Amino acid sequence: MTDTTSTERTGSCLCGGLRYRITGPMRDVLDCHCIRCRKATGHHIAASSARIVDIHLDAAATLTWFHPHDDPNVAYGFCSTCGASAFWTHGGLDTWSVCAGLLDDTSGMVTAEQWWISTAGEYVHLADDIPAFETQPGSSAEAAPPS
Ligand SMILES: [Zn+2]
Ligand SMILES: [Zn+2]
Repeated sequence: MTDTTSTERTGSCLCGGLRYRITGPMRDVLDCHCIRCRKATGHHIAASSARIVDIHLDAAATLTWFHPHDDPNVAYGFCSTCGASAFWTHGGLDTWSVCAGLLDDTSGMVTAEQWWISTAGEYVHLADDIPAFETQPGSSAEAAPPS
């Protein structure tokens, strides 16, 4: 997985309560169709990632973190006013996943992998040309090759 070229990127939620700048390299986008990401976002999460030290919150009054009851170390960051999904992280990581839809400019970014296709909604159109995994890479479950 390659880092997307490092250029400053800005992002914001629909209501503007959350605005940020990212000044470091960003990872390719991963789609995660796990049940938690489905329930948290209403669809699936499509997230890049950046180091926390490179994420500068210019407005964050409405940023709220939700910890799933079955894993309190996981955190979904969302806007408490407009409901936009913004971030995901796990205790101990030095990165935040960054929901790609909030970025103002996604030029040069690509979707690199599809995770948890075993729990994707039947309505989802999975991409044939993007590596897909039954769960996620590195898990005990067998990874599904791209079809
Ligand atoms: Zn908002
Ligand atoms: Zn997920």
